[in-house]
Amino acid sequence: MNLFRVEAAVRAAKDAFPIWSSKSPWERSQILNKLADLIEHDLEAFAQAESKDQGKTITFARTVDIPRAVYNFRFFASSILHHTTECTEMASMGCVHYTSRTPVGVAGLISPWNLPLYLLTWKIAPAIACGNTIVAKPSEMTSVTAWMMCKLLEKAGMPHGVVNVVFGTGTKAGEALVCHPDVPLISFTGSTLTAQRITEKSAPHCKKLSLELGGKNPAIIFDDADLNQCIPTTLRSSFANQGEICLCTSRIFVQRGIYSEFVKRFVAETKKWKVGNPSDPTVNMGALISKEHLEKVRSYVKKAKAEGARILCGEGVDSLALPAGNQKGYFMLPTVIAEIKDESCCMQEEIFGPVTCVVEFDTEEEVIKRANGVKYGLAATVWSSNVGRVHRVARRLQSGLVWTNCWLVRDLNLPFGGVKASGIGREGAKDSYEFFTEVKTITIKH
Ligand code: NAD
Repeated sequence: MNLFRVEAAVRAAKDAFPIWSSKSPWERSQILNKLADLIEHDLEAFAQAESKDQGKTITFARTVDIPRAVYNFRFFASSILHHTTECTEMASMGCVHYTSRTPVGVAGLISPWNLPLYLLTWKIAPAIACGNTIVAKPSEMTSVTAWMMCKLLEKAGMPHGVVNVVFGTGTKAGEALVCHPDVPLISFTGSTLTAQRITEKSAPHCKKLSLELGGKNPAIIFDDADLNQCIPTTLRSSFANQGEICLCTSRIFVQRGIYSEFVKRFVAETKKWKVGNPSDPTVNMGALISKEHLEKVRSYVKKAKAEGARILCGEGVDSLALPAGNQKGYFMLPTVIAEIKDESCCMQEEIFGPVTCVVEFDTEEEVIKRANGVKYGLAATVWSSNVGRVHRVARRLQSGLVWTNCWLVRDLNLPFGGVKASGIGREGAKDSYEFFTEVKTITIKH
């Protein structure tokens, strides 16, 4: 059944490609803007659906997920109008060379469950702005807002067949898309393990791949950091969206001189975070995505404890009082682990839940080495008031993104992506344009 749906979706996208790709960027831009307006008009309904489907708080869905989905369409509707291509003259040969960029064809887009519409539209918007047609597969765990968006396509003036969404599991629908010979490009966001399988399966077709994967992101806090800013931001960077953001901090390195103060204040603030009914606007953390995921996250805390680490607050230490209607939900308290070794699985593996580890360090040299000592390299934060140090450390961290004295401040013009096991390729205005188009060099002799 799924395979048939993927086949039909790819065919529809293939049929729509000649007309869509021949439209001017301006014509495509107007349709993207219209779709943005329609989603924004229904923002509250989208936010409610995202929160109910995923477990995230209504506040997060209202202020982050859906506004960003709207902005993704507006941003690429605008940026597609501003690209230029290259031209050089070779006078001695009587030649002019220039580059031409054309859309690739049918783009396969696969996204995860943590930021459902946000991440799906981060792929759809640039792909169609560039003139590709698409087959998108949202996570089978969180498909509702993708479905709601589909219902707005016609009203936005999107021609039939340009945007196709298939609903199904990764192993069936996802893999059928990855293996389809008429889909020359796959943009994937998800786990490193799935990316390895996608790479393997797509290899016989030599597909263009963009892989945005997991992280084990360090926060490095030097003794001259402004803790009044650092503590609330590190709290958010550790636990926002239940810690289910690829960019979340899960290893906090604190310089020895301020370690005790940091830990005392950080734990006190963590304990104030309210966990409960996602529809309650005063709640900071909602439910985790599934029972299996909750069990997996909890098992990491158990392992840490068995290894001799100290659980400073949260899971297994504090009790979680839930409202009557939420007793059976997949909730857990934000958890802080200390006295843990760098080799521990909690310091090495992506947990993707509300668990963060805090450890001491002495020197800049030492902390860079330890921060880099994992297989991932997605995002890092550095806290210091010493500008020279901030630049030095940022440059040496093996990470696609480094935020200093802040977290999750994004300019979509700039590259986004990870190094090592955190991904291959970058997305962003120029990078997405390059990924979703093919470049050709043309030489004219006069
Ligand atoms: P996942 O890899 O299990 O699934 C992601 C998507 O891939 C889903 O749509 C799934 O159905 C599909 N899929 C699964 N197996 C497939 C296969 N064999 N072929 C094709 N598609 C397949 O990831 P998840 O659990 O949904 O998401 C969590 C992961 O995503 C975490 O590792 C997180 O760090 C990562 N993530 C990364 C970023 C980033 O930008 N780097 C952003 C968000 C999430």
